[in-house]
Amino acid sequence: MSLVDDLLALDRPLLVALDVDGTIAPIVRDPDEATIPDDTLAVLKALASTPSTELALITGRDLDSLSRMEQLDGIWRAVEHGGLVLAPGQQPQPRELAEERRHALARFREWVRDHAEDAFVEYKPRAVAVHVRAIAETDPDRANALLDEAEEIATGLGLHVRKGRRVREVEALEHDKGEALREIFERSGARSTFFAGDDVTDLPAIEFASKHGIGAFVLSRERPEPPSESVVVIENAKGVAALLSEISRRLA
Ligand SMILES: [Mg+2]
Repeated sequence: MSLVDDLLALDRPLLVALDVDGTIAPIVRDPDEATIPDDTLAVLKALASTPSTELALITGRDLDSLSRMEQLDGIWRAVEHGGLVLAPGQQPQPRELAEERRHALARFREWVRDHAEDAFVEYKPRAVAVHVRAIAETDPDRANALLDEAEEIATGLGLHVRKGRRVREVEALEHDKGEALREIFERSGARSTFFAGDDVTDLPAIEFASKHGIGAFVLSRERPEPPSESVVVIENAKGVAALLSEISRRLA
């Protein structure tokens, strides 16, 4: 049986949950420039309105940054690696960080401004992401040294460090995509789930999905080998788009 057949055989309601960058949006050097291709957006829109199907996007981006890429109706969103989970139509509530967490994050922001001016930096409400993809193209040693240094400083400040391929994400509070997927799975009333993601930060969600349906790892030039032999593999982001299109067509 193909992966599509396996997916269609899962119990309904089926929760289709997807990482964004590298999974439905091709990786680009500057995360601000990343987009979800129009035909993928059309398929997501169709999936969101398919009966007995729930659609979720689970991303490290913050809500503003995700909103620049999609304004889909009727979908679940987990942003900031699960720091904020929103049901379809749900608006975010104001959130307060404890004084000491705010202070530690502010200290890290200062360090970034003084020491990582050549990195691409995302300043999120509760995290700072230091991306070195562009630096790595010309100076891989500098890129790795910067990642190590950022990690050391952040750890010293008592902040949580999430390691991606070319990014260190420094967070005031620790979350993970597996917990986010679990929350959406439970709140949505889904009976099975499919999740696809392309980075090590997706592994907890892939693991959760494989216990309650199917979890798939998306390969890329940066990560051409799957993290384990047993995981379901999708060749690239184009393969994800083709899979979603086929599922949407057959569920309709
Ligand atoms: Mg990704």
